[in-house]
Amino acid sequence: LVRHPEFNRYLSNGAFSEPLEMTSPGETEKAVSLQIIPFGEAQKLIIGHDVTRLARLEQMRRIFVANVSHELRTPLTVLSGYVETLHGMNTLDAVDLKKHLTTMHEQAARMQRLVDDLLTLSKLETAAPTRHDESVDIPGLLAGLKEQAEILSGEQRHRIALEADPDLNLRGRREELHSAFMNLINNAVRYTPAGGTIQLKWAADEDGARFSVADSGEGIAPEHIPHLTERFYRVDSARSRATGGTGLGLSIVKHVLLRHDAYLDIHSEAGKGSVFTCVFPAARLVRKQSTVSGDTAEL
Ligand code: ADP
Repeated sequence: LVRHPEFNRYLSNGAFSEPLEMTSPGETEKAVSLQIIPFGEAQKLIIGHDVTRLARLEQMRRIFVANVSHELRTPLTVLSGYVETLHGMNTLDAVDLKKHLTTMHEQAARMQRLVDDLLTLSKLETAAPTRHDESVDIPGLLAGLKEQAEILSGEQRHRIALEADPDLNLRGRREELHSAFMNLINNAVRYTPAGGTIQLKWAADEDGARFSVADSGEGIAPEHIPHLTERFYRVDSARSRATGGTGLGLSIVKHVLLRHDAYLDIHSEAGKGSVFTCVFPAARLVRKQSTVSGDTAEL
């Protein structure tokens, strides 16, 4: 350490009010913070901290801010370009105007989606662990999401099937589960060619319960799979943007599942399709019990 040039400079400079941060001379993948404290006649105490985790977090924060800025800048540039063009025009052709406004609207909507997803993520990260979870009617929630998926599919006419255990509820946050499941279902529609099949399944198994979305879409090559839940990670950026993606959907899914003691399992084969499965522990399940009147009560 004493021979390390950076440390040497710190030592001979004599300004010890701030610590020195550098990569560890022994293990280059580690970051250390060193503080010299002079004491006694001519003695010095060195306190060293391993700050690798902090340095990594700081690096992630920088990358995240750069990514967000980049994502916002593109639509903003297009929008302000159009505003300038419209401003400079003396006469406005109605057809041109409509075209310009359509593009402006699309770009504004893109920014809106990005900001909405960022807010969702930040809420998920800062919210306290959920203690007052409610029993969420998953079969009902999925029926609604299936209808929305059919609307999103529109002319593409995907064949969407839902198979849900009608008596199986989940203890959690309705809004969060809605957001996670919606992201998975929307992805299946967006990454599956017209006419493809999408199967939604909610069922208990021996360890707990699973919600899965299987599609006959384009699939994902194995090297991408471990990165899919990273913020802004996309296999094909052009396709993601063209279908209204923000690159944040699967990060939201991952966070929601973490908050529900669950995890996301991804199986996919390029060209064949994908299966995204949310795996919930048994402790989160709530069984509905049918009563004589036809109403349901919870066990
Ligand atoms: P995006 O807004 O780009 O869809 P996501 O976080 O939801 O962001 O997904 C990350 C990436 O994972 C997508 O850009 C896409 O490349 C891939 N992906 C997600 N779902 C599917 C799917 N069902 N089929 C194929 N690729 C998918």
